[in-house]
Amino acid sequence: MNSLRNFDIKYIKGIGSARADLLRKHLDIHSAYDLLRHFPLHYVDRTSIYKITDLAGDMPSIQLRGRFLHFNIVGEGRKRRLVGVFSDDTGIIEVLWFQGISRIKDAFRTGNEYVIFGKPTYFERTGAWSISHPEVDPPGALGSTQGLRPVYSIPDPLRRNGITSRMISGWINNIFIARPIITDYLPASTLNNLGMVGLSDALRSVHAPSSAEQLNKARFRLKFDELFLIQVDMQQNARTRKQVSRGAVFTTIGRFFNRFYAECLPFQLTGAQKRVLREIRNDVRTGHQMNRLVQGDVGSGKTVVALMAMLMALDNGYQACMMAPTEILATQHFEALRQLVAPLGVNIKLLTGSTRAKERRVIHEQLADGSLHILVGTHALIEDPVRFNNLGLAVIDEQHRFGVAQRAKLWKKATLPPHVLVMTATPIPRTLAMTVYGDLDVSVIDELPPGRKPILTKLGFDDRRLDVLKALGLQLRQGRQAYIVYPLVHENEKLDLLSLEEGYEYIRDTFRDYKVGFVHGKMKPDEKDAQMALFASGTTRILVATTVIEVGVNVPNATTMIIENAERFGLSQLHQLRGRVGRGGDQSYCVLMTRHNISKETRRRLELMTQTTDGFLIAEADMKWRGPGDIEGTMQSGIPFDLKIANLATDGQIIALASREAEKLLELDFHLVLPEHAAFARALNLSRDSDKSWSRIS
Ligand code: ADP
Ligand code: MG
Repeated sequence: MNSLRNFDIKYIKGIGSARADLLRKHLDIHSAYDLLRHFPLHYVDRTSIYKITDLAGDMPSIQLRGRFLHFNIVGEGRKRRLVGVFSDDTGIIEVLWFQGISRIKDAFRTGNEYVIFGKPTYFERTGAWSISHPEVDPPGALGSTQGLRPVYSIPDPLRRNGITSRMISGWINNIFIARPIITDYLPASTLNNLGMVGLSDALRSVHAPSSAEQLNKARFRLKFDELFLIQVDMQQNARTRKQVSRGAVFTTIGRFFNRFYAECLPFQLTGAQKRVLREIRNDVRTGHQMNRLVQGDVGSGKTVVALMAMLMALDNGYQACMMAPTEILATQHFEALRQLVAPLGVNIKLLTGSTRAKERRVIHEQLADGSLHILVGTHALIEDPVRFNNLGLAVIDEQHRFGVAQRAKLWKKATLPPHVLVMTATPIPRTLAMTVYGDLDVSVIDELPPGRKPILTKLGFDDRRLDVLKALGLQLRQGRQAYIVYPLVHENEKLDLLSLEEGYEYIRDTFRDYKVGFVHGKMKPDEKDAQMALFASGTTRILVATTVIEVGVNVPNATTMIIENAERFGLSQLHQLRGRVGRGGDQSYCVLMTRHNISKETRRRLELMTQTTDGFLIAEADMKWRGPGDIEGTMQSGIPFDLKIANLATDGQIIALASREAEKLLELDFHLVLPEHAAFARALNLSRDSDKSWSRIS
């Protein structure tokens, strides 16, 4: 593969320097190697013919065979279009043309048989399928061009310059003509263990498959490569960290921890909380640095676990800090922790962007002389030139809002790397955690504190809005508070903001006796904080908001959440949102507002929300229905390598295989010094991207 990295794309036959510039600029493709790793987005299947009655869900481009029953020109001006009604023996579909209308109308005869090829879309409003601007051919005309044709992602500027998928296929073919053999870098033992195809074959087949089976084998091999590199990298790091990197040793459980447990803890710890504390305790006394992820659903009680871990640090003469992603959350944590430890004489302070200069100076002094025990803050805590006297433990809450580089900065705050505890409510299926957090140990709090009443979730329909508002009124009269959440999606920001404002006015008019607040992400931070504070203090009784309230906000008196246009949210997001209610002893309610005419699938997704409050189950369903989506986006930021073909959400099995093979390889040759592993060691080094890899910075 090495020589391919040095093979400039402008020398590939058919590209030339003008197109090379475009490829570099818009696709980050510089070498033949990069071009070979520009994998097809999908393939169009010209091997089979679909039946209209079989159309369902989100379809790729497909072929249909049948006849046009008639053509009509409808609409005026820009909406003018040619509609052909096309039928096979199983149903009908509308074929639409917006351009070249008269030419097309003359080209096709009603009654003749044609094969049409295009992407069918379903219109919920009319309940009909349609295809726009399909390729239309008489049957048999395609002859030998049938098969799986690759379709590449081509950004607009390239498209405007006439670059097509077929051209890219040609260039790739020219690479293979220039370099017929691409040497494999995977260890022969690994290849043999899994009976995988060689690299040359895999690359050829993925760009020009002759059958679905061949394509699957090629994709498996290439996905494996990506995941295997990550696994080897992570396992090497994890083991090195465990063996080499020294961490603070917390030998004793002392005064702070014990007094807190005996006198301050306002409830019994759950079994899961106890277990996780034991896991932490076992880590921090080894002398090696701890990197532990604590996963626990919303409301599972992660904060107190973090606090008790911090008390362990204090007991051994170390300082601790806790970082939260927003100022609101940091402040809430600070207030909660301060109350909990009040009787212990712990010196705890808050540092955020809005901390005054004078207070900031005090914090700096006390951190440096060691008299400040716990510092809670936002990333001001790492951006600020703070120096700890001896930081022993850093807790990071809701990790996914923190960039990878930011975490690395923590290390520089102390001579010995501090132990790190990452807390997240994002449920991550096991195999995913294996890759994304391959070098973190994972603890799970899989039990909610006793006595929680599960949130009652119901679907609400637009035409029964008055009933929903009546129920809300009942809650308000009992002194409770409520959230009303609107979606805010970027493509349609203006419209969304409008509906949010209208919603706010409508609610204000409907509930004149109560103070109604209003927050969204476009507000100035201090304005937003002021609104949140009014709600937290109970002054504001209804908060009309966008998803800015999604993470961590804790107002136990809020018992009702109404989510507007619920069908526009992902399930995991609905789950996070819903977690804002049900935080006190009272029965809480969540109403998912939607329309009657949503698709069956959407309805099933929403109904799942009414049936379970299990975050893991919801995350898995979300992944199945929506694809990796959000979850993967979140995850990708955690891994050091670019994934071009593997998919963390759906390739769980390959991840597991890659993990096992990586273990075998490292067992045999941890430093990859054997001659038969030299090629692989080189490939690994080339793939390492020092900017993105944070675990090694320690
Ligand atoms: P999260 O895991 O979402 O961060 P928190 O730590 O904020 O959850 O805890 C949610 C609520 O549950 C808090 O009010 C906390 O005091 C309470 N809590 C935590 N652990 C227990 C427990 N073992 N028994 C009863 N209540 C608990
Ligand atoms: Mg929390």
